[in-house]
Amino acid sequence: MIDAPFGPDWKETTCESCGNCAEACPTGALIAKNRRKYQPGRVKKVLTTCPHCATGCQYYLVVRDNTIVDVEPADGPSNKGLLCVKGRFGSFNFVHSPERLKYPLIKNKETGEFERATWDEALDLIASKFTQIKKEYGPDALAGFACSRSPNEDCYMLQKMVRCAFGTNNVDNCARVCHSASVAGLAMTLGSGAMTNPIGDITGDVDCIMLVGSNPEEAHPVVGMQIRQAVARGARLIVVDPRDIGLSKMADVHIKLKPGTNVAFANGMMNVIINENLQDDEFIKERTEGYDEIKKIVMEYTPEKVGEICHIDPDLLREAALMYAKAKKAPIIYCLGVTEHSTGTEGVMSMSNMAMLVGKIGKSGCGVNPLRGQNNVQGACDMGALPGDFPGYQKVTNPDVIAKFEKAWGVELNKKPGTHATDVFGAAIRKEIRGLFIFGEDPVVTDADQNHIRKALESLDFFVLSDLFMTETAQYADVILPGTSYAEKEGTFSNTERRVQRVRKAVQLEGEMRLDTDIFIDLMNRMGYPQPQLTSEEIMDEIASLTPSFGGISHRRLDRGETLQWPCLDAKHPGTPIMHVGKFTRGLGWFYPAEYVPSAEQPDDEYPFILMTGRILYHYNTRAMTGKTPGLMMKEGHSFIEMNTEDAVRLGIENGEKIRVSSRRGTLTTTARVSEKVSPKETWMPFHFPDGNANILTNAALDKYARIPEYKVCAVKIEKI
Ligand code: SF4
Repeated sequence: MIDAPFGPDWKETTCESCGNCAEACPTGALIAKNRRKYQPGRVKKVLTTCPHCATGCQYYLVVRDNTIVDVEPADGPSNKGLLCVKGRFGSFNFVHSPERLKYPLIKNKETGEFERATWDEALDLIASKFTQIKKEYGPDALAGFACSRSPNEDCYMLQKMVRCAFGTNNVDNCARVCHSASVAGLAMTLGSGAMTNPIGDITGDVDCIMLVGSNPEEAHPVVGMQIRQAVARGARLIVVDPRDIGLSKMADVHIKLKPGTNVAFANGMMNVIINENLQDDEFIKERTEGYDEIKKIVMEYTPEKVGEICHIDPDLLREAALMYAKAKKAPIIYCLGVTEHSTGTEGVMSMSNMAMLVGKIGKSGCGVNPLRGQNNVQGACDMGALPGDFPGYQKVTNPDVIAKFEKAWGVELNKKPGTHATDVFGAAIRKEIRGLFIFGEDPVVTDADQNHIRKALESLDFFVLSDLFMTETAQYADVILPGTSYAEKEGTFSNTERRVQRVRKAVQLEGEMRLDTDIFIDLMNRMGYPQPQLTSEEIMDEIASLTPSFGGISHRRLDRGETLQWPCLDAKHPGTPIMHVGKFTRGLGWFYPAEYVPSAEQPDDEYPFILMTGRILYHYNTRAMTGKTPGLMMKEGHSFIEMNTEDAVRLGIENGEKIRVSSRRGTLTTTARVSEKVSPKETWMPFHFPDGNANILTNAALDKYARIPEYKVCAVKIEKI
């Protein structure tokens, strides 16, 4: 039979539109539509890194007449020639979107309208307002957020501007609302808050993969593809997730636990492992501390007790524990289902507890592996866009570190750790913070409890935003600066596995647009801090000179084809694919004594459902980039809520019906998707879509260590309209 692939209508199939089949087709029978738009000999190809998730896929931007017309995969270390639908089809339309901001805008206070301004007018206004606030209220009345979509060099200069010109450590990045719990938790237990093993290692020669609170087929699709390949080769798969996800269909065990019960789950796993005498006594004795205390705690978490807390079958927990403990090579891979809780840091430390108990860390095919969200959120943290850390996690409370940076930067630095991004909003409402510079973030859309964020932005004396597009957050700005995309500049991204990879300029900036680093440097000088002009390559050299873990990283090495994972200590150091081999970064690994604490907001008679939020395959965060690709919008363009069939029948709600969803913080309307994906009394929404933004509903209850909000659990009610 001769037929089109997938039958008459591929949209009705499970095809993800990743395009990998078309790429592999040797006959040309399948070809991506973009390929028809140019002749191969009349384009240039620029090797760069995908700007969406932190898998860090390598590809070529195909450029004709200063316009990107296509993407071709490259054989990168983390993608091995594969790409997902976002990377292949959603990573260049936005660069040429007519909606791009192209010149500075200043809000006319009388009309409330934004008016075109010159760079001198905009930067002089910002410098004078911030200087005035600093003079009247002190430097800690200012704050700045770095952009985790931007290269390391941009993030480094942003934090340098905040520390040297603003004079404060009030600098942060959007890791605060996704993986700050990983940064804090793994730093406390292991000494380094990053993924321990490379993607290829944990999806290669492994016996079992334990996936906790992570849906990589949608959020990190090329990692998801490699997990599918590992399972096809015979690896066992344990999925721990409150929803049915694509990979749970392939799993040997799916622990469909109640949202917010990860700590109890991990303690239950450890209970079984110890009772079965499967712990690694030698590893525990030689490499760790705190075992006696954690053993005492987890002995209370019998499978039956954990079954009750997590709403799971105790025998499934036993099966998963034996499978994980008995496997020779078994990585834990986790994501925001672990971190985005008011006990997120303890959830993360529970992951390292499990790995240390069975000695599966510091070894190939093992480890504790957070899949970071945004393309360069790892890098934004590495570059010191954190309130307590200079680049390379050097502490602002360490006098030797302060002395080193004061000498290098030629300025007296603020010694007080700064305010976390999620606390900046409350501080703005209390008038403790009065001036804010946001580089490429859209917290009105992405942060929990949208009304709280709007109130905070309205409370600021002066607010500057730099972005590619006029976002919801931009509406509150006094000055808006046009940002530059990854395709218009040089630099590096650090992917989730700590791998520093090049970002290369493929097209010229239009008109009077300027590089983000040039804007920061200009503003620093206007505020009185003498910052010399530097290229991206020179900025990386400065980073390397001040950051031991980046000491051997340079554009020159990367351009020679080396791929470097930090720590990379000097020009001859090969980088560190696997961390904690032989010794933890903190010396001994620490078993954190984690007790299960319920989520901050529990369902009750008025708000009887739990709401979780997350990402879908076709979009990234605010859709600022993916929303400019018509094909992605055609696949998914509107908000929806998943609910269980049992609940829908009880409420008389049909699949596809518009319904009203409310929490204590707000109300929205959205479309019901009725299935068995979520359990009864549980619901799930993506947060990408403005026609029903889930963050109107979410709860800004913060984790005590990392100050991350509880996106994954809030109480809602559902009403038929
Ligand atoms: Fe880009 Fe992530 Fe897709 Fe790779 S998996 S192509 S990095 S969005």
